[in-house]
Amino acid sequence: MFRLSRIRRIAKWTGAVLCVVLLAEWAVNTRYAVRYASGRLAVSVGWGHTFFTYRRIGPYRDAPGFTFLRVGPSPPLELPHFVQLPSVTVGGLPNWIPSVFLALPTAYLFYFFRDRRYPRGHCQRCGYDLTGNVSGVCPECGRAT
Ligand SMILES: [Zn+2]
Repeated sequence: MFRLSRIRRIAKWTGAVLCVVLLAEWAVNTRYAVRYASGRLAVSVGWGHTFFTYRRIGPYRDAPGFTFLRVGPSPPLELPHFVQLPSVTVGGLPNWIPSVFLALPTAYLFYFFRDRRYPRGHCQRCGYDLTGNVSGVCPECGRAT
């Protein structure tokens, strides 16, 4: 079973990596887009947005799977963020929204839960100096050494 500190460490670094990925996306998003299509549904990331496209008539016209697109500086649709046509529904979410919801908890974890590594010879839970301790148990917090 994972300890809470380990879960926090994983969450923290996963958040940091995803923030870097979103920053990289922001840097190239007027030149490149990525689309993943499967059946009638496609998810595209580009122009600082994530677009969800659902086609009601026929499957997605392009090849399923991942497609990398070289794009121009303007999105294919003006951005009211939601378009409903007889054949297709497109919804767009500005990427700063998931970025904020990702960056805030990540920053919180980095600020409040630093990975404390106590020096060798100290209790790794509470930092108590165990020099000369032969009992095998930390006298301060009871952790087995
Ligand atoms: Zn201790």
